[in-house]
Amino acid sequence: MIKALLLSSVVGALTMVSGCSTSIAGQWLQQQSVEAYEPVVETTPEPQETSSIGSKEMDVLVEQGPLSPSGKSYGYYDSVEPTYVDGVLLVNKDYALPRSYGSGEDPEAYQALQKLQSAAWNAGYSLPMMSGFRSFDYQEELYNDYVAVDGVEKADTYSAWPGHSEHQTGLAFDVGWVNLQFAYTGAGKWLAAHAHEYGFIIRYPKGKENVTGYQYEPWHIRYLGTELAEKVYESGLCLEEYLGVA
Ligand SMILES: [Zn+2]
Repeated sequence: MIKALLLSSVVGALTMVSGCSTSIAGQWLQQQSVEAYEPVVETTPEPQETSSIGSKEMDVLVEQGPLSPSGKSYGYYDSVEPTYVDGVLLVNKDYALPRSYGSGEDPEAYQALQKLQSAAWNAGYSLPMMSGFRSFDYQEELYNDYVAVDGVEKADTYSAWPGHSEHQTGLAFDVGWVNLQFAYTGAGKWLAAHAHEYGFIIRYPKGKENVTGYQYEPWHIRYLGTELAEKVYESGLCLEEYLGVA
């Protein structure tokens, strides 16, 4: 009986995640409290009451445990493979990295960042690195903190789910000022105009929110190497569009 109840709450949680974008945690709790009253009805022995799916499928669901913010099981991130499109590592809300991926900034990308920073400095602007590599676990902490403050729906517009952050690639950096006003500063304008010369693109451009899944982030740059960054910049497309996966 206990196992059956646990199963029904897992199945319930799955349904919630696929069907709505509001507070999943809240609804899950609601679901839990409803389930908590069920043992009282233990007098009616109906083994098939919880679900119509087979016991094998149920066992799989139990093994998967609770769902991650992406709606996938946490176990998914132990074995998922990184996705490369035309040799470019792609990480977004659809494509994830395994939990263990990455241990720091990519050396080539970091060197390019330093060149960009000194060029900006010579032009009279300061572009300090505000954020570089982030591990899966750190991103998880960040995301949960944002959700606690802003709720799931809002947090999803600006914070990546663990396993889905481009910062975990070691190829992405937040520079200057992590604020929308940064776009209107001299440093922000300089970055938008020159990042590609050093191998970077503004990864989440204005007007592409529906494609990237994120709000405009004038401070978040992604290293692609000068050749490709130049092409993406000239195309006026965001990375998903350029790679043909939008
Ligand atoms: Zn960023």
